[in-house]
Formats: sequence, structure tokens, C-alpha cells
Amino acid sequence: MVVFLNKGITPQQIEAIKEHAKSLGLEARLVSGSHDNIIALIGDERGKELRSLEALPGVRKVMPVEKPYKIVSREGNQRYNHHGTKIVNVNGVKFGAAKPVMIAGPCAVESLEQVTELACVLRELGVDMLRGGAYKPRTSPYDFQGLGEAGLEMLKCASEKSGLPIVTEVLDTQKVEEVAEYADMLQIGTRNMWNYPLLSAVGKTKKPILLKRGRDAPLMEWLCSAEYIAIEGNSEIVLCARGVRTGVTGEYGRNHADWDVIFPAQKETYLPVIVDPSHCGGLAERVPSLALSAIASGAQGLIIETIREDAKPDEVKCDYKQGLRPSQLRTLLKKCAGIYRVINETNFINEA
Ligand code: PEP
Ligand code: MN
Repeated sequence: MVVFLNKGITPQQIEAIKEHAKSLGLEARLVSGSHDNIIALIGDERGKELRSLEALPGVRKVMPVEKPYKIVSREGNQRYNHHGTKIVNVNGVKFGAAKPVMIAGPCAVESLEQVTELACVLRELGVDMLRGGAYKPRTSPYDFQGLGEAGLEMLKCASEKSGLPIVTEVLDTQKVEEVAEYADMLQIGTRNMWNYPLLSAVGKTKKPILLKRGRDAPLMEWLCSAEYIAIEGNSEIVLCARGVRTGVTGEYGRNHADWDVIFPAQKETYLPVIVDPSHCGGLAERVPSLALSAIASGAQGLIIETIREDAKPDEVKCDYKQGLRPSQLRTLLKKCAGIYRVINETNFINEA
């Protein structure tokens, strides 16, 4: 059940609702969003007289929401019940607005010079946000693991120089506070989509979250992970598809494009959905077609790994093969804008 609250509800009335829920054996969690103020009930609701909550002052409506993800579902949200996307605002960059958001930057922050130089070039290309990992989740423990806090400082410098807000990954609960001090948006990587303590921890921050899809996650599990964040009071969440694991690995790429998940995701939730074509393709030559097909599939933004124009393979510590050079990105961004225009001119909806 979700309890929708009146706008002018007082703290005393909220307390009374919580007490009443407790008497029914349920925990009542207040979620104050930018739109609806709601109380989500946690616990076994079976056989309980939940309608009794409706009589309490300050309660607008008590609604059963069947989905295991209630707060982030359209079903559980009055404002986005049928259509529309929540705008997630990251220091002026608006996810879910008319124009797709373009994020670009290195896989990992490797030096101040590398990330600052790239950031300034990307800004010139019209990129909206800067990416870059300071804490890297690597398959092999022998590979470069990122520069840690020093990397975060470099990112911050690059952000100040270029004016681009930053998104960077947080890998564990103990680092959430530290990463949140530097980042404008916190990234939860594919490997951590099921890390529930981490999801709860980032949900307690006020930073917007970029939540990647687990490499073989059903849509339901992905949205439940978003719910773990939202239930802590933070529903500033952007979903990011990045390919799923099938047989397309090895020398021809890393993952299989799963952009068909965008449509059902956008039907089920009002959160913006973007795509990472780089970690799907694994090779620079695959990135443009994956990026364009993502935009054609309704992606509301892209996050693309880039390397410096003159980068050599042995100078880049992480994901050199899939990095686009700025000149390649420039061409791609133009094509993306074209595809976006074409797709949005087309209406294939049949009347009910
Ligand atoms: C990344 O974006 O740096 C990354 C590691 O991506 P993913 O979690 O999707 O593999
Ligand atoms: Mn990478």
C-alpha cells in the first residue's frame, strides 16, 4: 500500500500515521519527493485493515500498488500515472527533458592533465556532463583500480575548469560520503545493482543516482533496485542500460545490446532511461551504431567513454579499445541529434 498525503500535512499527523501503521505491525516510511509526499508501508500487509488509515487527518488516499517497486512505478505515482518523465536535475543538466543528455569522459581518471584536457574539449563539443571513474570495479584484481580520492579531486578540478557536472561510480558503502562530497551524481555500476546496502546508502544522500542495469537483470529486479534507493527518500534516479551478457563477448565486444528494455522500463516507471553504448560494444567501431540505435529506441541520454585525440594504447590504463576520440564523438553527436529528430517526428501509436 502507498499512503498519499495532503500537501499541508503536519509532522504530528505524520507521526500519527506512523503510529497507526505500527499498531498494524507495519513500518511506515515517509518519502518526500519533488512531486508527491507519500508514506510507503513496509511489512506483510495480508489480512490487515489498511483502509483504516484513510480516516486519519492528512491522508489523501490509500492505494494498493501491486508492483514490488511501488514508489518508482507509474502505478504508485499520481502525477506520472499514465505518462511523462520525471526531470532529474543534476546542477542544471536535465535528464528526462526534451533533449537527450550527453555524458562523456574517460573510463578512469588517470591524471589531472588527462581529465581536465578531455573535459574542456568535451565541453566545446556540446557534451552536458563529465564521466570518469576514481574507484574502478575491475574483473582482474591485478588491473588498475583507479586513483581513489586523488582521482575525485582531479575530477572536481576538471569540472570546475570545464563547467561540466560530474558523475562517478561509488563501489562500497564506506565510500559513499567521500564520493558524494565531490560528485554531482553517483553511479551504481552493473556489478552493484544487487548490492542492497549500497543502494540504501546512496538513497540516504541528496545526490542524484545513475543506476546501471545488472548485466543479466530482469526489468523487475532493476526497478526494485531503484526502489531500494527511493525508499530511503531519494527518488532522483536515472536508469542506465548498458548491455546484457549473452554469447556476444570476446573479440567482438562485451555485451548484447538490450535497448528493447527501454520501452517497458518507460512504461513501468517515470524515471529517465539512458544508455551506455561503450560498455556494451567494447570496441570503438561498435559504439556509433549502438549509440544511434539507443537513441532510436527512446534513450533519453547516452554515456560514452572517450580518450584523448592522440591517445596511444599503452598510455590508457582502462578500456582503451572502446574509447571514442573527440573528433569521432563530434560526428556521433551530430548523427544522434538527427536520429532523435527523426524518431520524434514519427508517431506509431494506434488509437485504443
Ligand atoms: C563504468 O561505467 O565505468 C562501468 C564500469 O560500467 P558498468 O558498470 O556498466 O560495467
Ligand atoms: Mn570503462
